[in-house]
Amino acid sequence: MHFDTLIRGGTIIDGTGRERYAADVGLRGDRIAAIGALEGAQASHTLDATGKIIAPGLIDVHTHADGWLLKTPNLECKTSQGFTTEVLMSDGISYAPVTPHSWREWFVYLRSLNALVPEDYEGWHSIADYQALLDRRTAQNVISEIPYANLRVLAAGWKRGPLDDSQIKIIRREVEKEMDAGAVGISTGLDYVSECFATTDELVEVCAAMAPWRGLYVTHVRYKKGTLAGVKEAVEIGERAGVPVHISHLKAGTAAEAEEILAYVDRVAVHAVDFSFDIYPYSAGSTMFNYLLPYEVWEDGPLRVIEKLSDPVIRERTALLLECFPLPPEKIRFAWCPGEENLRHRGQSLAQIAAALGKSPADTVCDMVIEENLAALSVLEGGDDRLIDPFLQHDKFMLGTDGIYFPNGQVHPRVYGSAPRMLGPLVRDRKLFTLEAAVQKMSGIPAERFGLTDRGEVREGAIADLVVFDPITVTDRATHADPHQLSIGINHVLTSGIEVFATGRAITLPGPQQPGRALRYKG
Ligand SMILES: [Zn+2]
Repeated sequence: MHFDTLIRGGTIIDGTGRERYAADVGLRGDRIAAIGALEGAQASHTLDATGKIIAPGLIDVHTHADGWLLKTPNLECKTSQGFTTEVLMSDGISYAPVTPHSWREWFVYLRSLNALVPEDYEGWHSIADYQALLDRRTAQNVISEIPYANLRVLAAGWKRGPLDDSQIKIIRREVEKEMDAGAVGISTGLDYVSECFATTDELVEVCAAMAPWRGLYVTHVRYKKGTLAGVKEAVEIGERAGVPVHISHLKAGTAAEAEEILAYVDRVAVHAVDFSFDIYPYSAGSTMFNYLLPYEVWEDGPLRVIEKLSDPVIRERTALLLECFPLPPEKIRFAWCPGEENLRHRGQSLAQIAAALGKSPADTVCDMVIEENLAALSVLEGGDDRLIDPFLQHDKFMLGTDGIYFPNGQVHPRVYGSAPRMLGPLVRDRKLFTLEAAVQKMSGIPAERFGLTDRGEVREGAIADLVVFDPITVTDRATHADPHQLSIGINHVLTSGIEVFATGRAITLPGPQQPGRALRYKG
């Protein structure tokens, strides 16, 4: 017997929830060719997994790596955690679909979360175009959702107000085209540009268009309105449109709120619709700094925001809105912006920056957004990280990092540490659930939910997306103060049988062909 790669002496946790067992794994081409006692086998390349776990490559169901993957052949903050697949175009906002009239505005708006600058535009329009560019360009596989704000802008511009019949028709046709091309379903981020103006009825109509494909409604709900109310709306949309519902980054600010939300999930949501959710294992959040602005600044699109922020009435409203925000300026931390002058404030709170500049917090936000042309990132402090435990322990949970990466930002540690934090501190040390369940919630369950065939499981014939880790030492090291820290205990990561991370560093293949592929949804 001859294999391209033989992983010897390990213990398999296969991603299905089944109990671990000892076996060697032989790979041929991009697939798992054999699992068992393979002592006599020959191989071109052998990995020693003695004392280690062999698990399926992990799947991140909520990411903001869309732009980074286009520019980075191996996004080490992700491959170093064992992630081999990224579900792109989260929160209803991304780089496709765009038109010759809208792409620039999207580049400006998304710069707070992502990598691309206008020079990076390669002329794509549809999601399928964008996915085709990513195929074999990075170490990780990608699959995409259909970002709703992009659709709404394509059909109706950035405006507030209801859509007319022809606009709905355009959106529904786009949904059908993108579902046919392999999208997972529709994503929304109902606190963000354009889609904050979408009504429940509008969302029901457009979601119904993906029902024939069993498309998934993936939603960052109206958190600004209140999490429970937002989740209820999502369930209503799924029920009326006849589609499954997945809530993005579902968490709570207090133990009482967690109990209330999960009671609703158990008593109502799981019976009304096919329901699931994701979260990352930290209570702090992170989003665009311009999240603090009132919705009316978005009514004419991102390129018009700057002029609106000079209006004293808008500043007054920004101040009023900050008073209503669940966190005070002391707990809103500035994390990144492109300009060197303002970047010196990274790590400081909005209160500290305002005091240093002698301005009100509202003026500080408005001026920063003007100076950075919208591009600034914040971290929102949370309470005790144990507030997340009841969500992590829930049956319907799977991991989504929501990672937002900037190499020179004081970013949220979730972009480096989410998966190893699950495997080490939460499972080995605190025993929130079994290691088998942890692996399943990061591989088998997301593969099934996000329609990835032949991935998310260690079995003969499956694609060889794999991670080998040390269950004794695996842990995250990234912190809020020092986020750019690779985890330890992740020994080998393979995408389609090719090693993309080993012994503490990313491996980039020479030449243009990387092992990551653009995948299609199988509903
Ligand atoms: Zn979100």
